[in-house]
Amino acid sequence: MKELTIISGKGGTGKTSVVASFANLANNKVLADADVDAADLHLILAPEIKHKEDFKGGRTARINLETCTECGDCIERCQFNAISPDFVVNNIDCEGCGVCVYFCPVQAIDFPQNICGKWYISETRFGPMVHARLHIAEENSGLLVSLVRNQAKVLAEERGLDTIIVDGPPGIGCPVIASITGTSVILIVTEPTLSGLHDLERVGGLAAFFKITTMACVNKFDLNVEMTDQIEDYCTRHQIEFMGRIPYDTAVTHAMVAGKSIVEFSDGKVSDAVKEIWDKVERILKRLEG
Ligand code: SF4
Ligand code: SF4
Repeated sequence: MKELTIISGKGGTGKTSVVASFANLANNKVLADADVDAADLHLILAPEIKHKEDFKGGRTARINLETCTECGDCIERCQFNAISPDFVVNNIDCEGCGVCVYFCPVQAIDFPQNICGKWYISETRFGPMVHARLHIAEENSGLLVSLVRNQAKVLAEERGLDTIIVDGPPGIGCPVIASITGTSVILIVTEPTLSGLHDLERVGGLAAFFKITTMACVNKFDLNVEMTDQIEDYCTRHQIEFMGRIPYDTAVTHAMVAGKSIVEFSDGKVSDAVKEIWDKVERILKRLEG
């Protein structure tokens, strides 16, 4: 089974638009939206939810005041000052270390798991999709990214599908690392700006560290051809396979508003460029297979 993870150094590079088009063009695949903090692939793919589950991560102490003897041991031991003088745990300050639970002489402290979000298995017009949503201000997004990828693998095996296309989170933090570790190949979508080049250097460095075959393409390349040349040159010098250039076109925004991928929405130059890039990516995926 092959897994293609599409990432960008930051949001707003047009990554999701590329993923939605690949979803349309690829055969025998499962889609995985691993951008769990700000998922937006569903806006284009309009998934019909078939299965949903809570995502649990971390724990918070809760004192049962009827059992508590008010000995004060937990207040003294808590390194995070999370317990008030009247024995109420502050959910925000509690780090879930479990020390108070362990030492409470009368077992007056419950330690339930927190529900941090939800994950879903859905059907879309391009095939099955696993996606998730982390609740606002919740952490553990790396764990949820791993869960989404694992569920996509299970689904692919169950249905005999041989490709997983992952829409990765932006940046280079824990969720991105969770989205690329063990993947078959990475495509970085970047833009022709100095920050686009720096982002490529950072995520490219991360991919190189994990020794993963890496490809890149430049979106809206004609807004700065000179910078696009520099990015292509950087890729050539750092063993990043350069997949191509996508021109700027307002049709991309119109496609998004219409809830369509650009290759469904128009036959123009952007669609042609994205199809060419997909053909190259598909060849590399086949090469990895062989
Ligand atoms: S350690 Fe247990 S009994 Fe003592 S104050 Fe805390 S919750 Fe109450
Ligand atoms: S679980 Fe840890 S952080 Fe939370 S209240 Fe107990 S001792 Fe404090």
